[in-house]
Amino acid sequence: MITNVCDFLEKTAIKFSKKVAFIENEKSITYDEFDTLTDKLASEILRLGLLRQEPVLVLLPKGIHCLVSFLGVAKSGNFYTLLDEKTPKERILKVAKILKPKLLITSKKFDFSYIDLPCIFCEDFENFSIDKDILNVCKERHIDTNLLYVFFTSGSTGIPKGVSITHKSVIDYTFWVCETFDVSESEILANQAPFYFDNSILDIFSTIKMGATLHILPTSIFAFPLKAIEYLKRHEISMVFWVPSVLIYFANTNALNDANLTSLKKVLFCGEIMPNKQLNVWRKNLPWAIFANLYGPTEITDVCAYYICDREFKDDEILPIGKACKNTELLIFDKNFNLITKEQVGTKGELCVRGTGLSVGYYADKDKSSKAFLQNPLHDNYEDKIYRTGDIVCYNERGEILCFGRADNQIKIMGHRVELGEIETTINSHDKVQNSACVFKDDMITCFYEAISEVDFKAFLKDKLPLYMIPRNFIKVGKFELNQNGKIDRKKLMELA
Ligand code: AMP
Repeated sequence: MITNVCDFLEKTAIKFSKKVAFIENEKSITYDEFDTLTDKLASEILRLGLLRQEPVLVLLPKGIHCLVSFLGVAKSGNFYTLLDEKTPKERILKVAKILKPKLLITSKKFDFSYIDLPCIFCEDFENFSIDKDILNVCKERHIDTNLLYVFFTSGSTGIPKGVSITHKSVIDYTFWVCETFDVSESEILANQAPFYFDNSILDIFSTIKMGATLHILPTSIFAFPLKAIEYLKRHEISMVFWVPSVLIYFANTNALNDANLTSLKKVLFCGEIMPNKQLNVWRKNLPWAIFANLYGPTEITDVCAYYICDREFKDDEILPIGKACKNTELLIFDKNFNLITKEQVGTKGELCVRGTGLSVGYYADKDKSSKAFLQNPLHDNYEDKIYRTGDIVCYNERGEILCFGRADNQIKIMGHRVELGEIETTINSHDKVQNSACVFKDDMITCFYEAISEVDFKAFLKDKLPLYMIPRNFIKVGKFELNQNGKIDRKKLMELA
């Protein structure tokens, strides 16, 4: 029985002890070494008196030390929150106020002396001794409903929300990923997602479960598509799970032409709407690969819906998010919480989700939790929570789900309900357009776009969109600013509109 994500590591460390688990720049670590180092850290955490389910704040850059911290904390029966070492002081303090961590794990390179906490430095991990007895006691009493991590999302009020995720959610998700995408020990993955962003859960735990190898790519490499592609080739990367913004950028810069990435067999993406125009560039250049659109909010442990591309799409079509992952249920409700069924093709509603992957709520915030996590409106017989994603979706005639973006991207203009995502999909299909984002301010739609040159949209959109959906203003930008997670920073655009 698997009750702790560390059970994956325990098995793999026996089976593939000398195999390289993680690679970061020139550094690498084998499963055996990784297992030992996490035992050392876990023993030290327990010696410091964090005996069960205490919050540990990790302030480290993406890398092997971060992973040792995660698994070390998990082995000690506590849970982690990661913040990037570049996180502004104000945000760190806000998070610390909610989380009330009992321990800080960081590096001697940084000065976080303003956080008054006992501290472990990653430079000391090697020096800690392993206490097998204390680790065994801890292992025996662990249950899978214990928290593994709390990830903080930005929160519309400016107060971060701590999405609390249990071991069982990550275990369930990892099984699903490995089965669905046939991940094996021969898989070589290249990670793009920051480790405080839940897309990284797929990379980290599928790797550990199967005894695969994960390359931790530096964020800077994604600004240079040719360099990144050269890396993928040189290291025979077989699987990636990246955000659409990165895939779009690579397609727009023609980096894939003649790239001949024959080792890359699985291209998965999640986080934003993936436009077919750029996806088609990828599919044309990698006809041997499978492409999968994964969908999900942090509150459902990364992913709750998926669509493996099984047919051609025109540039201006919406790529489905498909269907529910195994052991997950997707429910679409109208404003009055009436269920929208597959027969109601095209009827839009809000996507809600239930399943083992569901977060147990926002850390220390019952109010916010009760607004987002509701009793299943279909019955009131026992506690059965659903999460309201805030995304507008509908079924197509094949019973697949289409996602039009967030409800807050849904606007009312001249009495019509409009999904800004729908306008963007049409605009993105223009030959010259590389990417676009629309915002609604002062009763006007403004479209920001990246393109090779200025575009005359009015003529292009005339036959494609009703007049009320055509943006009033079009602003060409050099390159979209991305938020922390690598998605288009829409808050910034709102300020510019
Ligand atoms: P986060 O919690 O930061 O992962 O953001 C989750 C939100 O990203 C979802 O509620 C969607 O609005 C959006 N999202 C994630 N994956 C997709 C996808 N494949 N297609 C469209 N939107 C997506």
